[in-house]
Amino acid sequence: MGRSMNDLEIFDRYPATRALGHVRLGNLPTPVESYSALAEKLGIGELWVKRDDLTGSIYGGNKVRKLEFILADALAGGHERVWTVGALGSHHVLATALYAREVGLEPHALHFPQPVTAHVLEVLQALSTTQPVLTPVESKNGLPFAMAKTHIREWLSRDKNPYYIPGGGSSPLGVVGYVNAALELARQIEDGACAEPDVIYVAAGTCGTLAGLILGARLAGLRTKIVGVRVVDKVVCNAPLTAHMANKTSRLIRDAGGPELPKICAGDVTLLDDFIGEGYGKETSEGLRVMEMVERHTGLELDPTYTAKTFAALDAHAESLADKRVLYWHTLSGADLSARIALANIERDLPASYRELFDTPLPH
Ligand SMILES: *Cc1c(COP(=O)(O)O)cnc(C)c1O
Repeated sequence: MGRSMNDLEIFDRYPATRALGHVRLGNLPTPVESYSALAEKLGIGELWVKRDDLTGSIYGGNKVRKLEFILADALAGGHERVWTVGALGSHHVLATALYAREVGLEPHALHFPQPVTAHVLEVLQALSTTQPVLTPVESKNGLPFAMAKTHIREWLSRDKNPYYIPGGGSSPLGVVGYVNAALELARQIEDGACAEPDVIYVAAGTCGTLAGLILGARLAGLRTKIVGVRVVDKVVCNAPLTAHMANKTSRLIRDAGGPELPKICAGDVTLLDDFIGEGYGKETSEGLRVMEMVERHTGLELDPTYTAKTFAALDAHAESLADKRVLYWHTLSGADLSARIALANIERDLPASYRELFDTPLPH
């Protein structure tokens, strides 16, 4: 059987993994590009960017690869609704809602607070256009209880309809999207689009992206070191959890008839703890500085919550990267939401309690 142009790399290499199911939402493979002016400015050997900002035209970023597997599973199970959890400005909640509507599913989410920035308000405006069913949770600490209540209510009412998607889309099926992403990069290296990087820097939230990249790189035989930059609390983002997630994903792939994957241990996971600043969603001055620098030299936009902190780590390590080939994995959506935001009706489509978020003055 020949290789079809638009096939996923994982299906091409391991045809049995097609059994996992897949719905095409975006535009894969994404380009890998060299940015020599910024490499020179940073004083590092080479800088490459994996353009996962371009994964989808209605919305890009790292959630699209995960949702291609997750939403396929929801559709195959005959579900009509999906529910998930995230902070007010969650890219995951937004991506899930947009693509759920795309494939005919109704999006629901439990929503907890985070520091409100201009970026968060834009995410909320875009989210409102999907007419989501949102349940605000008073604080992050109340989330486990609110989630348990939702699960119990479904169980008591024997409502099997809602399909639950974990935060960040980091279910084993979601992580398969990033195993495929690493295989996709390996193919681009084989095809000569880029040479094998010494190190990859990637943002780590729920760690599904990191887990998938570590697994996929092993599977492809890459020697690249993969560095996750932690931007959320350590309780939800740590090395043992990342290894656990990777191993659950390996079992899923093997049980589908795919390849046997190496076991990942916590010691195989590199996570940096020094760039989160005061916490999830809180801007750091280093982050804001590199955001401006990256945009000036590349035209790529970063966000304060994830990608600016990740790039700040790369920048802080520049000296030790002076003779290294570095790949920054760009996980932020590059899709233009302005047309969608112009259509937003937040009074009609968001809970009434959200209105005050739009009335409160923003930091700086
Ligand atoms: C969600 C998100 C991440 C985190 O990905 P995980 O797989 O949850 O670790 C990183 N960057 C951006 C821009 C995101 O929206």
